[in-house]
Amino acid sequence: MTAIVVFIDQINASGTLHSTSQQLLTLARSAGEAVVVVAGPVSEDLAAELGVHGVARVLHSEQSELADFLIAPKADLVAQVAASVSASAVLLENSPAGKEIAARVGVALNAGVITDAVTVENQGGALLAHKSVLAGSYMVQAQATSAVTVISVKSHSVEARAAAQTVVPVVERIEVTFGPASLGARIIRRTSRTASGRPELEDARIVVAGGRGLDGDFGPVEELADVLGAAVGASRAATDAGWISHAAQVGQTGKKVSPQLYISVGISGAIQQKAGMQTSKVIVAVNKDSESPVFEIADFGIVGDLFKVLPQAVEEIKRR
Ligand code: FAD
Repeated sequence: MTAIVVFIDQINASGTLHSTSQQLLTLARSAGEAVVVVAGPVSEDLAAELGVHGVARVLHSEQSELADFLIAPKADLVAQVAASVSASAVLLENSPAGKEIAARVGVALNAGVITDAVTVENQGGALLAHKSVLAGSYMVQAQATSAVTVISVKSHSVEARAAAQTVVPVVERIEVTFGPASLGARIIRRTSRTASGRPELEDARIVVAGGRGLDGDFGPVEELADVLGAAVGASRAATDAGWISHAAQVGQTGKKVSPQLYISVGISGAIQQKAGMQTSKVIVAVNKDSESPVFEIADFGIVGDLFKVLPQAVEEIKRR
């Protein structure tokens, strides 16, 4: 069976698999045999959880360079594992780091790179990826012409499922050779952002995003996000106005998200906003203008004043 290398870059503080990694494993299993790569230690609990996802082989490195330098050493790790197991594909998360690793692995393996994929399927041994292009105007099926394909997959594009049979994975600790160029930028200090307690935008199952209609007050959006356990996103009009950090911007020049539920609040639905969210599974729009273009892509639309609609929604959700 074709070997598909899955790079697990995020492990929860509790040592368990992040939901994005579970989704990658579900996809890999549907298309071949997953070989997992981890940059760091693999605890017994983590190995057991990987076994629940049908992973039979885990390769990991605990070399300090992986933590002390920027992205490049991780790309060396992934590329060298992919070459050693003769992988036909590498799957990674579609985060900025994931996409940088994908590009570097592509160069190292002379492999085609496909980003922003929402699903993959095995077509006669080669992986076919489905992705959105041209600001989300088209869905495209893409296949690399190289022997190996590197694909970054949007979070929540697929539902994570455990394997039909749990296995006990073989965990191997390996040593990787890092090229001088990979050790070009050392991390000298880490500072953590003030934690909001909300999920990261690109990892969230639910996103509540606000736009110019909020008129500077993100309170209603944040309250709805908190009762739903959602991340907060924004249109560029809102981030440019300084109402919320640029890190929250969704769209062509912001983050690309694909959650199970995207609630768009006071956002008109310009093409550049759609580019970042229209592959969401279910889109709900709240806008006072029934002619607003956002309703063209919304599965459910509420025409009304967000300052009335959102508090009512919060009350109702709390009541249940
Ligand atoms: P508006 O278009 O002003 O819409 C505000 C909406 O709020 C309206 O539909 C209005 O009916 C509604 N509203 C007002 N008050 C209420 C109320 N009380 N209750 C309910 N509804 C209300 N935009 C992005 O979002 N992301 C990007 O990444 C991005 N990249 C861009 C890149 C380029 C090169 C360019 C040129 C533009 C980009 N834009 C991007 C900007 C984009 O074109 C739009 O200008 C922007 O998305 C508009 O934001 P908005 O919908 O919040 O504001």
